[in-house]
Amino acid sequence: MRVGFLTLGCKVNSYETEKMKAQFEEAGHTIVAFTEQADVYVINTCTVTNIADRKSRKMLHRARRANPKAIVVAAGCYVDSAKKKGEVDEVIDLFITNAEKPRLVEKVLAAKEQKDASGLREITESGGGNQSMEQVLDRKHTRAYLKVQDGCNQYCTYCIIPYVRGPLKSKTEEEAAGEVEALAAAGIHEVVVTGIHLSSYGVDFTEKKSFLELEGKPLLLLLKRIAQTDGIDRIRLGSLEPRIITEEFTKELSEIPKICPHFHLSLQSGCDETLSRMNRHYTAKEYLDKLAILRKYFDYPAITTDIIVGFPQETEEEFYTTLSFAKKAGFAKIHVFKYSRRQGTMADAMEGQLEEGIKAERSDILLNTGKDLEKIYQKNFLEKEEDVLFEEITEIQGKNYLVGYNERYVRIGVPAAELENAEKMCNTTCRVHISGWITDGILHGKWF
Ligand code: SF4
Repeated sequence: MRVGFLTLGCKVNSYETEKMKAQFEEAGHTIVAFTEQADVYVINTCTVTNIADRKSRKMLHRARRANPKAIVVAAGCYVDSAKKKGEVDEVIDLFITNAEKPRLVEKVLAAKEQKDASGLREITESGGGNQSMEQVLDRKHTRAYLKVQDGCNQYCTYCIIPYVRGPLKSKTEEEAAGEVEALAAAGIHEVVVTGIHLSSYGVDFTEKKSFLELEGKPLLLLLKRIAQTDGIDRIRLGSLEPRIITEEFTKELSEIPKICPHFHLSLQSGCDETLSRMNRHYTAKEYLDKLAILRKYFDYPAITTDIIVGFPQETEEEFYTTLSFAKKAGFAKIHVFKYSRRQGTMADAMEGQLEEGIKAERSDILLNTGKDLEKIYQKNFLEKEEDVLFEEITEIQGKNYLVGYNERYVRIGVPAAELENAEKMCNTTCRVHISGWITDGILHGKWF
């Protein structure tokens, strides 16, 4: 069968999609682009906001239109949430909850048999080689996601995840180390260690109630173990909860080889009143203190973040407090989200929902500030030498560049024409001299 995948939402979903693709390839099926004609379409959905829900439904309908005879599979968070609400959609042949993802192939084959038996459809094309796990990973990656934790018990008021992802569950060190070995054997050089609430890694192994009591120790042990894997040169961390950053934790983290000095600490708001309505358990001042700790133990680390604008009752003054906080924090990159109501969350029931126009205006202002901050951060690299793990050849403004990332997740490109065989340089790390920008956000590197 030809199977097309589409991933919506977070890095955990991307990771799980790769695992599902590998299941199909190991069973002898062919993975095709989502835009191609396929026998099975799997949409790994997201339900973080009402907009995410809508997008999930839209993509499921698009798949059905692409091939009316295909098996259309809705997988992931939207399914968990829709099941709870008893929602149905006639375009979907198969619902796969997060817990059922490891049994996807088996369930799709059963659904196909049932559908064939009912005479409603026929599989248009069969076959596909017997590609190995290595080939799946090798196909386009130099970097792979390693999901080590699922579930969240933080209950931010805007987020549905704790209701749909279930309780905290962590992979054992053994399991995670085995996966990293496989990734390294497949030629991967960089792993991004992720989880729904990564800071809670290991809480479920103990009697402790929260990650704060554990002081990040299980995560540190896990990272030390991953760092021992030959072939893995870089370990990048997924989103961390700011409160895990303490002197002890950061000092120990800085002593682990291969850790990239790039930290994504979700801020969501730089205003204490808004943070409190969001049920985020830190103040703006406490967050700044965490950044100072990171900057003490790492050289100009890249601090990236998420900020929500237009949260219920956010006044203009509150928004400008967040804006000036962002400047003070000196973020390397800001992911800006316009608040989107999510049914079933506490924030959805709050009074003082803002108009979309106000949210859009605030989003534009913060996005512009984010771009300025990114440029300021990137100036740190001008006229310096940087190690770049090259990923792909991309056309930028009509010219081909070999592009990749440095340890601090800054995108850097070298003109492909300057290289004898640029293709062969993908998935290798080379030192380049930074001479300026190719375009906003992408630095220009020169061979020397
Ligand atoms: S920490 Fe908050 S935003 Fe993140 S998954 Fe948990 S509840 Fe959602």
